[in-house]
Amino acid sequence: MSTLNLVLMGLPGAGKGTQAQKIVDEFEIPHISTGDIFRAAMKNETEMGLEAKKYIDQGNLVPDSVTDGIVADRLAEDDTKVGFMLDGYPRNLEQAQALDSMTAKLNKPISAVINIHVDADVLVERLSGRFICKNCGATYHKLYNKPKVEGTCDVCGHHEFYQREDDKPETVKNRIEVNTKLNTPLIDFYNDKKLLYTVNGDQDINDVYREIQKVLRAI
Ligand code: ADP
Ligand code: AMP
Repeated sequence: MSTLNLVLMGLPGAGKGTQAQKIVDEFEIPHISTGDIFRAAMKNETEMGLEAKKYIDQGNLVPDSVTDGIVADRLAEDDTKVGFMLDGYPRNLEQAQALDSMTAKLNKPISAVINIHVDADVLVERLSGRFICKNCGATYHKLYNKPKVEGTCDVCGHHEFYQREDDKPETVKNRIEVNTKLNTPLIDFYNDKKLLYTVNGDQDINDVYREIQKVLRAI
């Protein structure tokens, strides 16, 4: 198989982070989540983090001028030679065009775009039940994806979890609206390039992954 340069798409709560974890474990490629990069910067209160926070707290997108630069720098790092998995980027047409220029310049063309499709009405419940390990970032759900041992992270064994600030119901509504509007042109863009593979995200987590594996083994 040639180098896997992947994009994982889907509305907030579709299951990108959950599936990304499985993909990077199996295919051993770096996981690049713009949301994770912003959260780390907010936690460290860097200048970029404080700027991003203004948008993230409202459920809006961080401006492209900030986001594109972060991804360009990250893709230029050495570890992406073996491939990469972008999660949460691109999120609008302008970012998709910026990504095209970056990958052309770096000679790292996108191999496939996996679109995890879930109807919007399922997403609110997904996001309101999400909780995350404070130590390693593994994602769980209070009903659909509980740790095997209650209160203990399956991945690292730690016991402290948190809920994301932007998973509050007020913010969730705007996030879903903003992203739904931007999603269709993005889907068309990658469909035209024959890179788009849509999987059904409204089924058991392992069944979603089986669909993704089928796509990745076929390309
Ligand atoms: P995203 O990264 O796309 O925002 P996550 O992977 O964080 O989404 O998933 C959102 C929430 O939904 C999490 O609580 C996760 O455990 C749960 N979840 C993910 N995939 C499924 C699924 N197929 N069925 C039910 N719940 C899921
Ligand atoms: P996520 O972890 O992917 O749900 O992202 C959390 C928040 O970070 C989003 O609601 C946006 O405010 C911001 N963000 C993440 N990725 C991007 C992106 N590609 N463009 C703009 N903002 C982003």
